Amino acid sequence: MNDFSYAQATTAKDAVNFLTEKPQSAYIAGGTTLLDMMKANLTEPPRLVDITRLPFTGIEQTKDGLRIGAMERMNAVGEHPLVKELFPAVSESLLLAASPQLRNMASIGGNILQRTRCGYFRDAAFPCNKRVPGSGCPALTGDNHNLAILGVSESCIANAYPGDLSVALAAFDAVLTLENTKGKQRQVLVTNFYLLPGNTPQKETVLEPGELIVAVTIPMAAHAKRSTYLKVRERASYAYALASAAVGLDVQSGTIRAAHVALGGRNTLALARSGKSADRCPGYRSYIPGSGRGSSARG
Ligand SMILES: Cc1cc2nc3c(=O)[nH]c(=O)nc-3n(C[C@H](O)[C@H](O)[C@H](O)COP(=O)(O)OP(=O)(O)OC[C@H]3O[C@@H](n4cnc5c(N)ncnc54)[C@H](O)[C@@H]3O)c2cc1C
Ligand code: SF4
Repeated sequence: MNDFSYAQATTAKDAVNFLTEKPQSAYIAGGTTLLDMMKANLTEPPRLVDITRLPFTGIEQTKDGLRIGAMERMNAVGEHPLVKELFPAVSESLLLAASPQLRNMASIGGNILQRTRCGYFRDAAFPCNKRVPGSGCPALTGDNHNLAILGVSESCIANAYPGDLSVALAAFDAVLTLENTKGKQRQVLVTNFYLLPGNTPQKETVLEPGELIVAVTIPMAAHAKRSTYLKVRERASYAYALASAAVGLDVQSGTIRAAHVALGGRNTLALARSGKSADRCPGYRSYIPGSGRGSSARG
C-alpha cells in the first residue's frame, strides 16, 4: 500500500479544493470498499479527502419525493420508518446487503459508486480492460460464474455495479443530485447514471472528475408502497447477489394496473434503462397488463 495523506473537508468547496490540489486524489466516505482496493494496490490515491462531515445528510419528504443525503449510512436508511413505509424495496435492498457492521459505516454515495467484484479486476496480477484499458479480459474465457449475461461487450462482461440499492432505485426512477467542481448541481436519473461497457469499460458512470453525489431523490409512485426486493445469493449471512429483482405493483381495486421490475446481478449495469435502451440491455422493464407487451416504466 502506497503512502498517502489525509484531509478532512467540512464543505463541498473544501473537498473539491483538497481533491484538485493533488491529482488522482480520492474522496473517502465510509471507506469500506475504497480501502480494500488501496490495500490490493488497485488504486493509489496520493490523498484521501474525507467527506463524512459534508452536510449531505437527512432523510425527508419533499415535493419531489423522498430525499436521502448521500452521506447517510446504509443501515440508517434501511431502518428508517419513512423508507420502510414508502419504499419497502429500497429498505430491503439495503438491509439484505453486506453485514450490519459494514452497513453502519457504508454511505449511500459510496454504495452507488462501488466497483465490480470481478476477481480479475480485483487482482492486480491479471490484465483487465477495466483497470488497464487495452490489456485484455481474462474473464471472457476464465472464471465468470458471477459476472454479467446482459449488456456485455467483447471488452468486458463484469457487472460494473454489483450491489443492491441502485437496483431498487431503478424501479422507482430515482434521481441523483450531483455537484461538480464549480459548485453547479445537476440531476441524473439513476437509470442513466451507469454506462454500458462497450469499448470503454473503464468509464463506468457519467460522474465527472471531482463531482460529488449530494443526494438521491425517490419520486412517490403508485407502485412504491407495494414493492419488494428479492435477492438470490450463495450464502444467507452476507454475499453479493447472483441475481436480484426489485418489483413494485400498482394495484387499484384488486387489479394490477402496472408492474415495475428492475433486475440486478446478471447485467453489466445492475439495471438498465427505459425506452429504447431497455431492449439493448433488458435489465429494467415494466409490464402494463392489457397492453400485450413489456414497455419502459416511463414509456
Ligand atoms: C464484504 C463486503 C460485502 C458487501 N456486500 C454488499 C452487498 O451484498 N450489497 C451491496 O450493495 N453492497 C455490498 N458491499 C459494498 C458496500 O455496500 C460498499 O462497500 C459501501 O456501500 C461503500 O460505501 P462507503 O461509504 O464505505 O464508500 P467508500 O469506500 O468510502 O467509497 C467508495 C467510492 O465512492 C466514492 N464516493 C463515496 N461517496 C461519494 C460521494 N458522495 N460523492 C462522490 N464520490 C463518493 C469514493 O471516492 C470511492 O471511490 C459489500 C462490501 C464488502 C466489503
Ligand atoms: S470482465 Fe471486465 S472487469 Fe473483469 S477482467 Fe474482464 S475487463 Fe476486467
